[in-house]
Amino acid sequence: SQEKLKKPEWLKIKISPNRQTIKEVRNLLASNTLTTVCEQACCPNLGECFNGKRATFLIMGNICTRRCPFCDIAHGYPDPLDPDEPKRLAEAAKTLGLKYVVITSVDRDDLKDGGASHFAKCVHELRKQEGVKVEILVPDFRGRVERAIDELLSAPPDVFNHNIETVPRLYKEARPGGNYLHSLNLLKTWSERSPSIPTKSGLMVGLGETDDEVFEVMKELREHGVSMLTIGQYLAPSKYHIPVKRYVAPETFSKFAETAKNMGFLSCFSGPLIRSSYSAFEQALEASTL
Ligand code: SF4
Ligand code: SF4
Repeated sequence: SQEKLKKPEWLKIKISPNRQTIKEVRNLLASNTLTTVCEQACCPNLGECFNGKRATFLIMGNICTRRCPFCDIAHGYPDPLDPDEPKRLAEAAKTLGLKYVVITSVDRDDLKDGGASHFAKCVHELRKQEGVKVEILVPDFRGRVERAIDELLSAPPDVFNHNIETVPRLYKEARPGGNYLHSLNLLKTWSERSPSIPTKSGLMVGLGETDDEVFEVMKELREHGVSMLTIGQYLAPSKYHIPVKRYVAPETFSKFAETAKNMGFLSCFSGPLIRSSYSAFEQALEASTL
């Protein structure tokens, strides 16, 4: 049974030696009422990232209008947008000395532009600091892609990211509010409208997909203008979430990365602990976008 699927050695994380830094980062974020995905998603890399003064900010509240069974974020009717959030985010990034900031959000199906203008405001505020690079990891803006992209292009990021998450066969189960073709279309539309800013996407494995299905998605992502890719192991946040169906071996992750390079991706970070925002700076460097 699924309960018996044992976590392999390669997923056991070294506890970070520098708990003090982690505490400092946490306090700073809490005092600015800022949320990070790192904490919300119980990311296994939190120690390493916070120690390295990296974080992925979750904007527009921490209640999502969707309900994906792999995700640990609360769902329900979200709070109104906080107009001061972009400024607070920029200030926190400055205090933390961040040079590469990843901003993501819950899904805001309740907003007319899906929250795109709020993303743009955050990028705009961050740009006031010299040298800061920004990656946005956006929701799918279903039904309002053109409008959302218009807004986002008013304050362009350095990298545009939208995770495809899983293979099309598993969408119904894993991403019930999403649509595979729609997500592909969003990626393609961005890459066509903004060819100089790289389009990035990411996949989780371990949800029940086959390797061949992963290769197929990679191929389709390339065909839809995606040039940067991440692939990581899905870990169930609790027993109430979709169970892990398999632990993908490190060699298989390497095979994905090798295939991605052959397909023409500029960067592919693929490994058990890889997350979309893990080493985002190094990913962008590898893709030579900075
Ligand atoms: Fe946060 Fe991303 Fe690092 Fe995880 S990998 S701790 S989400 S920055
Ligand atoms: Fe989580 Fe994103 Fe799904 Fe919302 S849309 S439940 S934040 S994965």
